[in-house]
Amino acid sequence: MKKQPVPIDAASRDTKPSKNDVLNAVKTLIRWAGDNPSREGLLETPERVYRAYQEFFSGYGEDPVAVLSKTFSLDKDYTEPVILQRIPFSSHCEHHILPMVGFVDLAYLPQNRVVGLSKLGRVVQIFAKRLQTQENMTVEIGKALEDGLHPLGVAVHISAVHQCMSLRGLKTPNVATLTRYYGGLYKNDPRARDDIKTVLTSENQISL
Ligand SMILES: [Zn+2]
Repeated sequence: MKKQPVPIDAASRDTKPSKNDVLNAVKTLIRWAGDNPSREGLLETPERVYRAYQEFFSGYGEDPVAVLSKTFSLDKDYTEPVILQRIPFSSHCEHHILPMVGFVDLAYLPQNRVVGLSKLGRVVQIFAKRLQTQENMTVEIGKALEDGLHPLGVAVHISAVHQCMSLRGLKTPNVATLTRYYGGLYKNDPRARDDIKTVLTSENQISL
């Protein structure tokens, strides 16, 4: 079982910037934008941005597989998938550090153990609270469920809107991006995949 899927190496932990470094970086961006970080309305802004960043990026240093380690035995007559729909998340794209907001739908077909439902939501939040691409986040959630639960099958769908598409570049708002990951039975058996796809796509259309 992989214990540390966290993308931080020892060197970057040792050189983690201080809070003061962060406050100064925000002041630099304000000055670069053409404003004065010393004017009244902006005085507290670096501190607020620092606290917001603490929240936005709290998923580093948390191990999703460890979150899934406490499992419960399953009634042998339960042979269907466990499905969670519309788990809301907000993350930040790693290309522009702008928000991407949407829903995760996931399913796993247990082998003989199940995990508390809230732990599944927690795994989503751990990956969301990092700099992400939607594609990578989809795969990372799927693989964490595989590593943590050893299920017979896993399916993850994500539907999200990216502010970097709405606010900049071609400025195309309200475009939903859909990504999918299938593992185990749902990867190898087209009929099982079609079944789970139908269930997961029935509710997940993001409302814009
Ligand atoms: Zn982006």
